[in-house]
Amino acid sequence: MVDATDLYQEIIMDHTKSPRNYEHLADADHEAQGDNPLCGDELTVYIKLDDGKVTDVTFEADGCAISTASASVMTEAVEGRDIDDVEELVETFKNLVTGEEDANAIDPAELGDLAALRNVQNFPTRVKCATLSWHTLQAALNGRDEPVTTE
Ligand code: ZN
Repeated sequence: MVDATDLYQEIIMDHTKSPRNYEHLADADHEAQGDNPLCGDELTVYIKLDDGKVTDVTFEADGCAISTASASVMTEAVEGRDIDDVEELVETFKNLVTGEEDANAIDPAELGDLAALRNVQNFPTRVKCATLSWHTLQAALNGRDEPVTTE
């Protein structure tokens, strides 16, 4: 068993207590809603694009610590990136938290605070909490109207 303190690391706690980019983005040109019935997490992701680049990304959420922290970390990680770059990061993150990619093979400097969420792979029931915002981000970028659900 991994101790709970390993899951709720300092970085995660910090993002949970003070989520970054936590606001409604009035002039968003893309938005999507996601929900994870397994845990009860609900969130909305707002994106503003300019010339294929994410110039602004925010979220609002009603969920557990992991889903909120993951969304907060995500907004910081994708802001300023090209859409192709974002799609790549979404895949990297999903592989990281599902344990499909060797965490040691990923450069922590490249991931920044995202690396803090890799211990989620030790808690299979929390993986969907961590990936919810990322699925929702993809849905927003792809302009899907249907709410995203992890089920
Ligand atoms: Zn959750």
